[in-house]
Amino acid sequence: MNENDKIDIIVIGAGPVGLFTVFEAGLLGLKCVLIDNLDKIGGQCAELYPEKPIYDIPGVPFQTAEEHVGALLEQIRPFDYSVHLNERVDSITERPATEGKSSTWTVTTSEGNTFSAHNVFIAAGAGSFEPRRPPNIENPDKFLNKGVAYSVREKKLYTNKDVVIFGGGDSALDWSVELAHQARSLTLVHRRDDFRGAPNTEKLMQDLVAEEKITLKTPYVIEELSGDKTITGVSLKNFETKEIETLLCDEIIFLFGLNKKLGPIVDWNLELENKKILVDTEKFETNIEGIFAVGDINEYPGKLDLILCGFHETTLAVQHAFKRCFPGERVPFGYTTSNTKLQKKLGVTE
Ligand SMILES: Cc1cc2nc3c(=O)[nH]c(=O)nc-3n(C[C@H](O)[C@H](O)[C@H](O)COP(=O)(O)OP(=O)(O)OC[C@H]3O[C@@H](n4cnc5c(N)ncnc54)[C@H](O)[C@@H]3O)c2cc1C
Repeated sequence: MNENDKIDIIVIGAGPVGLFTVFEAGLLGLKCVLIDNLDKIGGQCAELYPEKPIYDIPGVPFQTAEEHVGALLEQIRPFDYSVHLNERVDSITERPATEGKSSTWTVTTSEGNTFSAHNVFIAAGAGSFEPRRPPNIENPDKFLNKGVAYSVREKKLYTNKDVVIFGGGDSALDWSVELAHQARSLTLVHRRDDFRGAPNTEKLMQDLVAEEKITLKTPYVIEELSGDKTITGVSLKNFETKEIETLLCDEIIFLFGLNKKLGPIVDWNLELENKKILVDTEKFETNIEGIFAVGDINEYPGKLDLILCGFHETTLAVQHAFKRCFPGERVPFGYTTSNTKLQKKLGVTE
């Protein structure tokens, strides 16, 4: 999708329901932009349980969560859409309706990007995932992007640098293994001797420790960050002996996992109940026209936090999004089995 193309639906959240929105919108000829705070597509499926099987997707007896996200991406491949990761939607403003046209929404992201469309779909699940900050450190964000990071955005940033990674889960293990060969030195710090990540990756990490490509520091916790404008080092405290030692380093990556937070959504004047957005069950629209809420983020009588429920909700919501884009026009309805345009795009020929 060309960035200057007209957008019909801004989708906040690239979890399964956000992804399926692109499909349903695409069937009606509507274009979406997907924005997600995470560094990857797939929402909870990708972030919390990629290897866990899912058994309740209709027609799919078994799929891991990662496979499910892959299948959804394959399903939306024929359609024009764009994805913006590592960006949180922070604010939303309305340009009032003009004669014959619905109002337009403009969202602004944490990166300062703006997107405008007649419809906003909040498919924000349990809210945005926020990285956990290191405990007992006053204002660790002081060094954010100046030697401190909570995710790896560009691997090349760590080439020939002295890198310290904190954490004991999959991300900490994965990135230690991944960066060990390109960093000048790599130290992995964890407060326990046991790791919570995949045993196979832990074994790879231990092999790299044996090869002296990784220095392993357990059981250690962070004591203090040092630096003036940028990070120059970090002090560690041995959990058992209480001894303090200081490491010199250029980059620190804190991989302590993620907290789920409703985030800026609470400030958008939407009607909430139990930290979820109230919607009707005809259009899945919020109390504000043109803003829809689909998937785990919404609330209505009988709501279940299941992927298939989110798929149903967004299918119906997209019908109304079409009406806001083309007031007065009939929503084109047709089965995908007889959608020749889609078959052409998919390369399916008789
Ligand atoms: C361990 C576990 C197992 C599960 N097993 C099943 C199962 O077997 N079957 C099933 O149907 N369901 C299962 N679920 C539930 C299922 O994962 C959710 O119903 C589904 O992920 C909801 O999809 P979603 O797209 O609504 O939201 P999510 O998957 O939560 O995605 C929302 C996305 O929105 C992003 N976001 C939020 N706020 C913002 C913002 N302001 N700006 C930018 N991005 C934002 C978040 O970063 C996130 O990536 C399981 C859940 C868990 C935790």
